[in-house]
Amino acid sequence: MKLGTIMVAALAIGVSAVTLTASAEDEAPAPKTVKKRQFKDRREFAGTIVCIGCELEKRGAHAQCTLHAKHAQGLLADDGTLWTFIDNTRGHHLIKQKKLLGKPIKVVGWKYPKTQYIEAWSYYVQKGKKWVHWDYCKICGFEPGEFKGTDLCPGCVEDGEDEEEGK
Ligand SMILES: [Zn+2]
Ligand SMILES: [Zn+2]
Repeated sequence: MKLGTIMVAALAIGVSAVTLTASAEDEAPAPKTVKKRQFKDRREFAGTIVCIGCELEKRGAHAQCTLHAKHAQGLLADDGTLWTFIDNTRGHHLIKQKKLLGKPIKVVGWKYPKTQYIEAWSYYVQKGKKWVHWDYCKICGFEPGEFKGTDLCPGCVEDGEDEEEGK
C-alpha cells in the first residue's frame, strides 16, 4: 500500500515537471546548444609564461600581485596578448609552476569566443634546440611525453593493467 502511494506521488511529480518545462519553453526562446570543445580543435599558443599581475603592473595597473593573486601565471603571447589560463587541473600547473616562469612555451589548448582564457591541455617547452611535449597523467602530474588523451602516462597504464590481472 505504502509503495503504491509513493509511486502515485512520483508519477504526479513527473507529470507536473513535464508541464512546467513545457510552459517555460513557450515563454523563453530555446537555449542555443553549445557543443563541448573537441579534442581536434585544440591549437597552439606560443609565448612566454609570465606573472599576470606583474605584467599588468608594467602596463599601469595597481595589480597588488602579492595580495590575492600570489603571482598567478599566464601566457604573454608573441603578439603581446596576455592570456589567462582556466584554473582546472591542467591549467593550475601552468598558473602555479614557478619553473615555467619566464620560459618560452607553446601551450596546446582551446580558446573561447570573446574571452582571453586558454583552457590548457598540454604544452611544449624548449630543451636545447628541441621542443619537448609535456602531457598530463592524473597520477604523476605533468610529464614529458604524449599520452593521447588518456590522462595516464605509459607507466601508470601498465600499473593499471597489472592490477586488473591481479599481479
Ligand atoms: Zn606577480
Ligand atoms: Zn603516471
